[in-house]
Amino acid sequence: MTSDFVLIGAGPTGCALGAYLARGGSTVTLVESVEFPDSVVGESMLPCARIVFDELGLDTTGFLVKHGAVFCQSGESVRFDFADAEDPVYTHAWQVQREVFDLRWRQVAVSSGCTIQYAKVTGADIGTGTVQTTAGDLRAGRVVDTGGRTMWLSQKLGLRVADPRLKNSAVGTRMRGVKQIGRDEPGDITICCIPGGWIWIIPFGGGMASVGVVMSPTCPLRGSSEDRFNGAMALSPDAWSRLQDAERILPFRGLQDFTASSSTFHGEGFALCGDAATFIDPVFSSGVLLGLCGARSLAAALLHDSPSGLNAWEQAYREGAGVFRKVIDHWYTGDFMAVALAPAHRQKPYYRRGIVSLLAGDVYNPARTSPRRMADRMGELAGMLRGEKNA
Ligand SMILES: Cc1cc2nc3c(=O)[nH]c(=O)nc-3n(C[C@H](O)[C@H](O)[C@H](O)COP(=O)(O)OP(=O)(O)OC[C@H]3O[C@@H](n4cnc5c(N)ncnc54)[C@H](O)[C@@H]3O)c2cc1C
Repeated sequence: MTSDFVLIGAGPTGCALGAYLARGGSTVTLVESVEFPDSVVGESMLPCARIVFDELGLDTTGFLVKHGAVFCQSGESVRFDFADAEDPVYTHAWQVQREVFDLRWRQVAVSSGCTIQYAKVTGADIGTGTVQTTAGDLRAGRVVDTGGRTMWLSQKLGLRVADPRLKNSAVGTRMRGVKQIGRDEPGDITICCIPGGWIWIIPFGGGMASVGVVMSPTCPLRGSSEDRFNGAMALSPDAWSRLQDAERILPFRGLQDFTASSSTFHGEGFALCGDAATFIDPVFSSGVLLGLCGARSLAAALLHDSPSGLNAWEQAYREGAGVFRKVIDHWYTGDFMAVALAPAHRQKPYYRRGIVSLLAGDVYNPARTSPRRMADRMGELAGMLRGEKNA
């Protein structure tokens, strides 16, 4: 079978890209190895991803509405509400169970005119546009890897670059009986700091939540997934107060070394998008937003089929991800929390607007200056605040 595009992987990025391309008149085959989507990580959405949800008509019925995020550190906490962003267009997002979310993305792709071939991609010859799968060979004008963190094509072409600084691991599961306390609004994501790491609590409603821990190499937790998970909860009174009566309902899942990028995102006959191109770090829940916004602008560049369009796409895609990247570095130095927890009289309105706009994912609108400004100035602000505290 020959298509204009063969996309490797029908996750959110692949389905959105396929839908835009098919609606633009191209023939698209998505190759997907997992017939029934699993409860994978990537469950907390950001409001600015909604431009893609809305344009493609994703069904969000039943997902818990998310209005903000709570950050906790040693008994102190701060809540950010998306309504406080700089000129917000979208003031809420959703928390999604990925087995449902991914299925709905596949429905969007199919109803837009894509074909989904259930098979595993095992090889590709980009020069001839041939993709080898467990169900036989496919031919394409262009191959796009949207297959996620394995970065299969990037690895194969020698483009994958491991991150020099972020070498983290994670353990996650799903629990029931999770409590909402203090300043949390239903639907808020809660992030709790522990030494060398952090815990996420992503509620789905009715006390059900995704719970996990991300650990940097300096985190003292060792042992099995269960040991590290339980150890993390014991290190955080903030998490423990929400989870003490909760029970685990899914097996633990371990993930490691998930931060990497590609030296280029496109070339003759191929492109990379979503986690298959670059994945930074999950602390600000930016993964799906970056994949969907990257897919939206990649489709426009591919439909016009000009190398300069693809170069401009890659540059803009990297710049948006780069804003998150800067703030993620400030997260792991402690600067983000120093600024976020600043006393009320030191919270200049532009601090908050910048932080909230960033948490909402507003990194692809050139008119929004506050997230970039915040990303650039966070270290300096944190230094000033620490100086005042110690004076
Ligand atoms: C610990 C952790 C927590 C996270 N939390 C969040 C969060 O809260 N919010 C958020 O937005 N993001 C989060 N992320 C990131 C998020 O999971 C990803 O950014 C997002 O899923 C990327 O979507 P994608 O479509 O690019 O890739 P994926 O969702 O990984 O989809 C890739 C698809 O390709 C298929 N595939 C792969 N290889 C092949 C092959 N060889 N042949 C055929 N099919 C193949 C897979 O089965 C899958 O369906 C988190 C990541 C981590 C590590």
